[in-house]
Amino acid sequence: MSDSRCLQCDGHFDATRHPICPRCLVEGWLATERFVREKHDPRRLPMTWEGYRSVLNPNLVSNPRPYLEDAVARGRWYHDRFYGMYVFFCPEPLGVHPGSGIPEGAGEPEHSLDCLLVAEADSKSEAHAFAVSRAVFDKQIEAGEFVPLSCCEREGCGALQLPGRATCIDHQGGENA
Ligand SMILES: [Zn+2]
Ligand SMILES: [Zn+2]
Repeated sequence: MSDSRCLQCDGHFDATRHPICPRCLVEGWLATERFVREKHDPRRLPMTWEGYRSVLNPNLVSNPRPYLEDAVARGRWYHDRFYGMYVFFCPEPLGVHPGSGIPEGAGEPEHSLDCLLVAEADSKSEAHAFAVSRAVFDKQIEAGEFVPLSCCEREGCGALQLPGRATCIDHQGGENA
């Protein structure tokens, strides 16, 4: 446990689990215009697409806040080494499957997907949500494609590194911070 105070919302959070304030993270996602992209939008069904894709659970799209709050409380950050971005992963937000998969050429979902992934999770403009399979994600972790965030490089600090940085939120200002 490493108690950090958010300078934006004044909330406290455990920086060994959250590199940035979880409350502000959810607010940022809710304010992101293209958080639900056309490709993953269930309101556009039926619609065919080039290649396999997933669509989000309609309940999550119409009322995202409780799902995202639960996801942020229970999920985890990863670095996506293939795309060079940071993602946030959570199994079954609010206990439901957050989406389903549509095979190439099909217009409707054919199987359920049990996990929520927010890509570019630290970007106020590019963060976007879709559904993935836990089994597939676990294999990608095993293969080293997704790597959990490391700890802050400052000696004795157990907090997580900020996405793209070597230090945590409380040590981002350099030696004297
Ligand atoms: Zn905050
Ligand atoms: Zn630190």
